[in-house]
Amino acid sequence: MISLRGLKRLNRYENRLYKIARLAGDLGQLKQVGYSRKSKNGFRFPVYALTLGKKSAVRKYPVGLVAGVHGLETVGVRVLLDFLESIFAEPGQVLKDLKKGKFAIVCIPILNPGGVAMKRRSNPDGVDLMRNSGVDGESAMAFFGGQKLSPHLPYYRGKSLQPESRTLFAFIREHLFSARSSLIPVLDIHSGFGMRDSLWWPYAGKTEPCPDQNLYERTARILCQDQPGIVPESQSDAYTIHGDLWDFLYSEFQALNRKPRFLPFTLEIGTWAEIKKEPGRLLSRRGLFNPPPESKAETILRYRAFLERFVRLNELY
Ligand SMILES: [Zn+2]
Repeated sequence: MISLRGLKRLNRYENRLYKIARLAGDLGQLKQVGYSRKSKNGFRFPVYALTLGKKSAVRKYPVGLVAGVHGLETVGVRVLLDFLESIFAEPGQVLKDLKKGKFAIVCIPILNPGGVAMKRRSNPDGVDLMRNSGVDGESAMAFFGGQKLSPHLPYYRGKSLQPESRTLFAFIREHLFSARSSLIPVLDIHSGFGMRDSLWWPYAGKTEPCPDQNLYERTARILCQDQPGIVPESQSDAYTIHGDLWDFLYSEFQALNRKPRFLPFTLEIGTWAEIKKEPGRLLSRRGLFNPPPESKAETILRYRAFLERFVRLNELY
C-alpha cells in the first residue's frame, strides 16, 4: 500500500533534489534514469540521478554517492541531500574543486522511491534490493542474509533482477567504470544495523578478503581520520548475505582488468544505541531504522565532514 505520509516524504525529498539542481546551475544535471517496480495498483516511481561538476570531470573523475536503497532508511537520504545542498548553500572547498574540474559527483539519492512511498524496506514487489544481485553468498546468515521463501517476509531476494537494481548497475557502469582517476570511490548510505557506525567494503557474501583489502584499509583510515564514531571493516566482519549489489559490481569491475581501483563503500549509520536509550523505539518500524528526531539534525551535520572527505578522496590520498 502506498501511504500518504510516505508519498509526502518522497515528494519532499524530490523537491529538495530539484532545488539542489537549480542551485547548481550550469554545474548540475538532474535526469530520470529509471523506474521502480510497479506497485499493486499499477504505480511506477521515477528514479532520478543528479550529476554535479564540469562535463569533462563527470566523464574522467566521478565519485559516486547512493542512498535510499532501503525505503525505511530515510536518514541516509537526508544525510546525502543535506550534503549536496550544503555544497551550494555554504560554498567551500568542494564547490571550488567542482568548478576547477578536480572531480565530479554522480549520484542516485533515492534508489528505491517505491519503498519510501510505501514506507517499507523492500521495493514495491517485496524485494530487498540489497539481497537482489543474484550472487549466492558463502555461509550467508540464514533468513537475514536473504531468503527465497516469500516476498511477504523481510530480506526476500526476488526471482529476477529488479528494475531498481538494473538502474543502479547501468548507472554505475556508465558513469564509473570508465573513469580515469586512480581511485573510483562510491558510497552507499544506509542506516539501522549496529550500536555504532560502520564503513564497510566487499565482500558482503564471503569472508575471504577482497583483492583491494589493503587499499581499503588505508583509504578508510584517511576517510575516518576525524570520525572516531565510524568503524571501518570488511562487511563480512559484521555479517554475510546473499545478493549484495556492490559485491556484484565490484567483481564485474575486477574482471575488466582496468588499472584504476573501483572502491564501493557502504556507510551504515548505527541507530541501535538510540534504541537502548529509548526501548519504545523497538515498537516502531521507523524507529528501528532511524535516529529519533532530536538527534537527527545532529546526525546529518556530523556526516557532512565525512562526505566532504569522501568526494575529495583522490586529492587527499
Ligand atoms: Zn540498508
